[in-house]
Amino acid sequence: MSRISDGRGADPTADSARDPDPVRDRETDGDPLLAVRDLRTVFRTERETIHAVDGVSFDIYEGETVGLVGESGSGKSVTARSILGLVDEPGSIDGGSIRFRGDDLTDGLWREHRGDISIVFQDPSGSLNPVYTVGNQIREALKIHQGLRGSAARERAVELLEAVGIPDAPRRVSEYPHQLSGGMQQRAVIAVALACDPDLLVCDEPTTALDVTIQAQILDLLADLQREEGLAILFITHDMGVIEEATDRVNVIYAGEVVERAPTAELFDAPAHPYTRALLESIPGRSGPGERLPTIEGEVPTPTEPATHCRFAPRCPHAAPDCERVHPEPVAVGSASADHTAACLLHDDEFDIEAGAAYGGGDAPDAAGADDAGGRE
Ligand code: SF4
Repeated sequence: MSRISDGRGADPTADSARDPDPVRDRETDGDPLLAVRDLRTVFRTERETIHAVDGVSFDIYEGETVGLVGESGSGKSVTARSILGLVDEPGSIDGGSIRFRGDDLTDGLWREHRGDISIVFQDPSGSLNPVYTVGNQIREALKIHQGLRGSAARERAVELLEAVGIPDAPRRVSEYPHQLSGGMQQRAVIAVALACDPDLLVCDEPTTALDVTIQAQILDLLADLQREEGLAILFITHDMGVIEEATDRVNVIYAGEVVERAPTAELFDAPAHPYTRALLESIPGRSGPGERLPTIEGEVPTPTEPATHCRFAPRCPHAAPDCERVHPEPVAVGSASADHTAACLLHDDEFDIEAGAAYGGGDAPDAAGADDAGGRE
């Protein structure tokens, strides 16, 4: 297996001809719309420094949907807020780069790209201002980002509500958020986001607060919008079922680090990292009839120290002594594509770890997972 750097310590301004990008994660000659490299976002308090995002790197290309998946506390939402320049005190971006169309946003360029990247949060009622009509809020975004006013803005607001599937849009445009159902509110939030005319839509758990039927409708809507508008979407969720349905490629994040990345179909066919396997096993419907749905024992640790070891080790069924003293770097694991990497010593030729070693924490390994891992070594 070839070792792939995750870009730690790389100079993000280096000439790409002399220094080929070490973390390009898609086989293509085009430049990514968004290139996140070695992103580090920390929260400093008097007591401790939390490394919430700790060296995250990934790309998003025009018109594709990329997933960022992990449990609560894994750093995925902080990654989203970092991309938008929305990290509040005591948090700050401590290193790395976020290049949008080549501009490093961390050089203070968020304002220049205001509107190019929009975000849809989990709670639609918290995203809409209760004292303004839905139409008002869409028109305000149209005025700021597209310079539309008056009747042109009013017509466009109705068009956007129709585009997101709100029935009777000419009437609904004058309603207040509390007059809409939760699903309709989230559609209205998406309409406001589209009014900014973004190239990239960041969706942070956009369906989590909705019931299953509405969830499916919102996922369909996002897929339609992507096709029709050519939007790129970063989809952030804890739900592997949503990842399977909504994304082209996926990054699995754990304790602030991307531990596996792959085209989505390949990740589901051949998950390589024990954490990814555990997430997949916890999807309802993957267990046999009558079997208890497996859960991942333990919790995501809060990373208060720089990573010097595998942060998943206390929960990993394959953990070995090396896992406690070596920080795993991403290595290529895919047979089907070069885009598939995992940061796990099971796949690193420099270490002789047997799948199923069951050192330290974690439950007994599942046979299928151990076989898969062994087959890749
Ligand atoms: S085998 Fe070791 S390196 Fe791989 S996930 Fe488990 S603890 Fe981490």
